[in-house]
Amino acid sequence: MNKKTIKDVDVKGKKCLVRVDLNVPMKNGVITDENRINGALPTIRYLMEHGAKVVLCSHLGRPYNIFNDKIKKIKPEDEGLSREELVAKTLKKCSLRPVAARLNELLGGKVTFAEDVIGADAKAKVAAMKEGEVVLLENLRFHEEETKNDENFCRALAEFCDIYVNDAFGTAHRAHASTAGIAQYGLCEAAVAGFLIEKELEIMGGALENPVRPFVAILGGAKVSDKIGVITNLLEKVDTLIVGGAMAYTFFKAKGYEVGTSLCELDKVELAKELTEKAEAKGVRFLLPIDTVVATSFPDPIDGEIAVETVPSNAIPADKMGLDIGEKTQALYADAVKNAKTVIWNGPMGVFENPTLAKGTIAVAKALAETSATTIIGGGDSAAAVKQLGFADKMTHISTGGGASLEFLEGLELPGVACLDNK
Ligand code: ADP
Ligand code: MG
Repeated sequence: MNKKTIKDVDVKGKKCLVRVDLNVPMKNGVITDENRINGALPTIRYLMEHGAKVVLCSHLGRPYNIFNDKIKKIKPEDEGLSREELVAKTLKKCSLRPVAARLNELLGGKVTFAEDVIGADAKAKVAAMKEGEVVLLENLRFHEEETKNDENFCRALAEFCDIYVNDAFGTAHRAHASTAGIAQYGLCEAAVAGFLIEKELEIMGGALENPVRPFVAILGGAKVSDKIGVITNLLEKVDTLIVGGAMAYTFFKAKGYEVGTSLCELDKVELAKELTEKAEAKGVRFLLPIDTVVATSFPDPIDGEIAVETVPSNAIPADKMGLDIGEKTQALYADAVKNAKTVIWNGPMGVFENPTLAKGTIAVAKALAETSATTIIGGGDSAAAVKQLGFADKMTHISTGGGASLEFLEGLELPGVACLDNK
């Protein structure tokens, strides 16, 4: 990796402003999943142990900008509420206070919570910090300047920052004040990656730049249009490209198959043709489903009971909708990854939220679990599917960033990474 990390700088006695991802799910002020908190701990602990003054910042949920003079973008259901009511509602739902309390338990009582981000409370608490202590600032997005990447806001945050550390991979594809802007004005001595970002870049970057072959990509999910960039970039690198999910039907259409009422992007059929031809020209083995699980309509509710049948992919009835890959395809795909050395997977093979339609996704997850290959899962729903289906601990790496991992697989430079110092 060509970016500096916290191990490349001397942090002793330094104020380290660390952008972490503490955007945890909460219900009535109670944290319902601590994964992201746990993910942030190694970097925080390292900095504490090395004598830094650790100033943590994060966003949480989709709050109102209650620290601005005028609160904007009021949701229809909150129309007519007074400012006080909006503030109270926002604090109840989106304050980082409960996260600070939990962090304090996990970090031996060393964590203090600041009730604002760049205000009097934050300033006082940071000024009082000793080495090895932690202050968590209140939700960055209580300021609209955060997502607007406002220069004055960056400068105010930089007051807490001798060294800037980015460890929030999930927001690294955004150019916000805390994720990128702050490193732009030369206000910090150094801008470095934390351990989470380092791991993402090493594993995913390593696979893309220098894959151990055979290198197989499995792409699925809802839309070709969401994944054009990923397909295009990976076509340059892989030995085999496997397509599943709703995306397959646009490719079927390009081959002249009937797709019935399946999700299909008619305006992307030409592109699907081009991508197929490109794969051929490059000698990339390109696999589409040979059989398809169909039903009369999309399951409603999504996890409700559904009657299905399996048909050959070139014989989808006009009144049926394709919702998963069939058994023959499952076997074909499992075989195609068997001897792979590197596999990148993005996008479920079917409507995995439904037990009847999760079989294709399960089969692929199982095949990956059984290979000796380095297996990398990117994408929000793909990560959720692998966890929900019980295969998480069998994968080499499940990316912590949904959108960020997709942009990374597209070969795009992430602003939250680009802003860090080169080695
Ligand atoms: P990721 O978030 O991993 O990038 P996507 O958002 O592209 O993945 O796709 C996930 C969604 O695709 C899932 O909600 C799944 O139900 C849906 N999906 C997969 N196959 C089909 C299909 N055949 N028809 C409709 N939806 C599908
Ligand atoms: Mg998704």
